[in-house]
Amino acid sequence: MALENVKISMNKSLYNKKNKEQLLKEIENEDFQRITISFYKYINLKHLNKFRDDLYSQWKKLDVLGRVYIAKEGINAQLSLPEHNLEKFKNELLSISQFNDILIKPAVQEGLSFLKLTIKVKNEIVAYKVPENEFDMAITGIHLNYKDYHQKIDDGAIIIDMRNNYEGEVGRFKNAIIPDVDRSEDLLPTVKKLLQGHEDDTVLMYCTGGIRCEKASSYLISHGFTDVNQLNGGVIKYAHDIKNDNIESKFIGKNFVFDHRLGENITDDIISQCHQCDNPSNRHLDCDNQSCHILFIQCEKCSIKYNNCCSEKCTEFIKLPKEEQKRIFKEGNIKFTAQISNKIKPRLKDLKINP
Ligand SMILES: [Zn+2]
Ligand SMILES: [Zn+2]
Repeated sequence: MALENVKISMNKSLYNKKNKEQLLKEIENEDFQRITISFYKYINLKHLNKFRDDLYSQWKKLDVLGRVYIAKEGINAQLSLPEHNLEKFKNELLSISQFNDILIKPAVQEGLSFLKLTIKVKNEIVAYKVPENEFDMAITGIHLNYKDYHQKIDDGAIIIDMRNNYEGEVGRFKNAIIPDVDRSEDLLPTVKKLLQGHEDDTVLMYCTGGIRCEKASSYLISHGFTDVNQLNGGVIKYAHDIKNDNIESKFIGKNFVFDHRLGENITDDIISQCHQCDNPSNRHLDCDNQSCHILFIQCEKCSIKYNNCCSEKCTEFIKLPKEEQKRIFKEGNIKFTAQISNKIKPRLKDLKINP
């Protein structure tokens, strides 16, 4: 740990040091367009710290912002970069021999996505935390384009959402099973249990960009499932492809994304409700009370009423002087999280496996 600290202090140019306001201002003053892209690859990576630092310096030069995870199992990146640097960026990335076949997906809807560049070395690029002997990344599900995916939906295949339930709450494939889990690490065992008895049926998985299905499909295959399929490139690529071909979307609502935008509208349907008044809304936000910060859905009216907070308790709390807030929170007598929960659960019970 001590060594790590020394390294960080010596290589300050390899880390962001500015605060949020500064960063926001800089982006607002930019005289060029940014685009948001994402990609991933499962591949054995070595010398992770050096690789991380190299990527950071290389991408910093191209004004790349975003969030990147690297692990010995691969890379997962969501980035915002100046449009004029896209070609250069692609050429540099694809010239790394291990990445020459990587699929770079543009966002469905543009908007301010990232303020800074963070590249983190992690244990896994998708934190399912399942033991390594329960999947084999050399054997994953069949990657389907939207045409084959639609065909199998029409043939009655089981559709399962491989994201967290709050993502499925605002947008999902019609008739998909939304596993009732909040934490990624509970997802795979839950899915296995949900699909018990359907080992020989056709299973269709999907997730935001495809990365979660890679490991999830491998896990199901390792546990005896014989016909596991996944949506190639996830909902992001799906949305582009059906739009290009002018095909009606079987995914309804909003595709949740993990950046400032918090979602991209795939269709105009609003399938979720405000967690406070139950009126239709798909506006995700983090509670403005920094000691709470829970992710929830709030309509514009309730945003005004509760000052962007998840509850009256949080609304009142942020009116206190900052020092007072800190003191109360430190004393530990106040708990904010989990005040909104189980909102989605009753609705999930209506979703049953079709065949
Ligand atoms: Zn409301
Ligand atoms: Zn709150």
